[in-house]
Amino acid sequence: MTDLSVPIAKPEHEGVAIPPPLWLLAELTYRCPLHCVFCYNPTNYADHSHELDTAQWIDFLRQARALGAAQLGFSGGEPLLRDDLEMLVAEARKLGFYTNLITSGIGLTDKRLGALKEAELDHIQLSFQDSTQELNDFLSHTKTFDLKSRVAKLIKAHNFPMVLNCALHRYNLPHIGRVIDMAFAMGAEYLELANTQYYGWAHVNRSQLMPTAEQLKEAEAVVERYRKEIGEKCKIFFVVPDYYETRPKRCMNGWGQVFLGIAPDGAALPCHTARSLPGLTFPNVTETSVREIWYESDAFNRFRGSGWMKEPCRSCDEKTIDLGGCRCQAYLLTQDPANADPVCDKSPHHERVIEVLRAASKRQEPQEQPIVFRNDANSRRFAERERPQKGGDEQP
Ligand code: SF4
Ligand code: SF4
Repeated sequence: MTDLSVPIAKPEHEGVAIPPPLWLLAELTYRCPLHCVFCYNPTNYADHSHELDTAQWIDFLRQARALGAAQLGFSGGEPLLRDDLEMLVAEARKLGFYTNLITSGIGLTDKRLGALKEAELDHIQLSFQDSTQELNDFLSHTKTFDLKSRVAKLIKAHNFPMVLNCALHRYNLPHIGRVIDMAFAMGAEYLELANTQYYGWAHVNRSQLMPTAEQLKEAEAVVERYRKEIGEKCKIFFVVPDYYETRPKRCMNGWGQVFLGIAPDGAALPCHTARSLPGLTFPNVTETSVREIWYESDAFNRFRGSGWMKEPCRSCDEKTIDLGGCRCQAYLLTQDPANADPVCDKSPHHERVIEVLRAASKRQEPQEQPIVFRNDANSRRFAERERPQKGGDEQP
């Protein structure tokens, strides 16, 4: 067990003090009853099926809190598949974390909600795939829409603040008004309309999911109209897809600056999808202290600051704004994680993004390529393929 009374010296990187890992994501398991086509979990999750036990998670939480971590998300996979979830929430609250449960809702019974209330869980984020049963159930490859609707009512009956989350893409963007109506009717305080980011399973299904520019423009207009009508009663966050931007987003607010994710097997990750990057060994919390992981490990220092940058980022006067964008996107689209994120129109690889958008604008239904659901059999196939050598922007 870590001694919390030891004062912590905060090392520097490139002459700047490294801030504490304020935001933790505990991915308790990769197991999930749903099979979402846009899931950000690694496509080869079948190769990482081992899970930390309760004591290991608690030790991690204690160490991270001692470093200054404040906000904690319990995620997965589906975190409700862990029967120690309530115990972990209670421990996290005792340590002083603000806690959020990120769930599909499957398994969130009245009894478990009562136990989570007792454990003093702060917040619940419930995901829907769409406002219609047909599309929700198609995209998750399950019959779960009605159950999720019942769970939303139970969450409110237990008086939890609730965020409804819906990942947006080509299939459900035309329903955006109905998604907002649904969230409002369910009493959600917040609605997160996050356009799909193309990592993990979403990257595999990118050509099916990528929306057109017209779809996005119409969706934004609908969101604006609803914002005026609903006001603060349900706050709507609309996250624009970065493929349609000319500058990349400041990914995770900078590598090793705020975010520390722990995969089910204990691998420490500087972003949700970093596991897809080649040439990095991610330290494990069962072998290395959280302090050493955060301040000293190669994985967390590799893309910290700006010393690692190549041109055009190195001499770019905007480099402190976006820090060169997303390393995973740079890798997936250019096969080199140290390149500029090709969403940037200064990148020599920006044309690859334009090609994807061009294809999306021309695409007619139905698709030649079958959609790939996130499931164990498909994951084993990806794992088999990725074992000898990781590939970049390849479709199955
Ligand atoms: S996105 Fe879907 S499949 Fe992936 S973890 Fe969440 S609920 Fe499960
Ligand atoms: S060149 Fe690099 S640092 Fe400059 S705006 Fe583009 S991604 Fe950002």
